[in-house]
Amino acid sequence: MCFDAFNKVIETPCCHRCYCEKCLDQWISKSTSKTCPECRAPLDSISGCVPNIPFQRLINELPAQCPNKPLGCNDKLTRGILEDHKKICLYVLVDCEYGGNRCQKVLKKNYKEHAEGCPFRPVPCELCSASITKDKLEEHLGSCVGVKVGCPNKEAGCMESVPRGKVVDHVLVCDFERVGCCYEKEGCAEKVQRAKMEEHIVKFALEHHKMSREKIKKMEKELSDMSQTVDRLVHERTVLKSTLEQLTVLIPPLKYSPQYEMPLLLPTFFIEKSTKKVAYINTDTNTAG
Ligand SMILES: [Zn+2]
Ligand SMILES: [Zn+2]
Ligand SMILES: [Zn+2]
Ligand SMILES: [Zn+2]
Ligand SMILES: [Zn+2]
Ligand SMILES: [Zn+2]
Ligand SMILES: [Zn+2]
Repeated sequence: MCFDAFNKVIETPCCHRCYCEKCLDQWISKSTSKTCPECRAPLDSISGCVPNIPFQRLINELPAQCPNKPLGCNDKLTRGILEDHKKICLYVLVDCEYGGNRCQKVLKKNYKEHAEGCPFRPVPCELCSASITKDKLEEHLGSCVGVKVGCPNKEAGCMESVPRGKVVDHVLVCDFERVGCCYEKEGCAEKVQRAKMEEHIVKFALEHHKMSREKIKKMEKELSDMSQTVDRLVHERTVLKSTLEQLTVLIPPLKYSPQYEMPLLLPTFFIEKSTKKVAYINTDTNTAG
């Protein structure tokens, strides 16, 4: 019979001898005779045994050692509280909830401290709202839209620094951004800093004026070409229309009118000019021509 794990004490109904419950159970199941180990009276299961409370109390008071002692648990324990202690002992290794297998096993006692500094714990970036794990934060700042960067026109003189995500918006209004001249459509190919546009327009007023005149001339020419084309198309349409009318009267009658099947009354195919409605009229072929 064991002593170390003498946890639950029961006594036999025959000789009232005390045993560890687990050990007695094993003894009975292994023995072929199914008898009490002490007095050899028949005993086929531990269900006939009862707990021995006084002896159990003594056992419960015996000092016990936490199985986590190698990890640092030095709590003064007794056998009676060992099982409960094991459930709350802080000297057990647990998985990190953030890193899982990638992170180390952590002593429960140090878990809170670890979690705060765990490289796998997601933290909100202070500059944008992205959630980033601590180990990736530095890398993130290299592309974070919240980090302020210099204007791309810094060399041209813009001293603004704007969040990376707002650079595009800034460039749209940046005084130092070079943009096409207001007379671009008229033909000025100059790129001018936004703030110097007025200066440019004044300086090249004569050139811009000439370009505008040229542009107007060109457009007038295009307009007159277009109206000539329109005239020509209208004329062609008229010609086509009269050709169609001439052809129409040449088409021979195709069949009898479904309404009148008298062989002598031949219908003539007729297109009404205004509505293009197709109709049959009954008439004598000789007079219709
Ligand atoms: Zn035992
Ligand atoms: Zn017995
Ligand atoms: Zn412990
Ligand atoms: Zn961790
Ligand atoms: Zn960020
Ligand atoms: Zn700028
Ligand atoms: Zn210009």
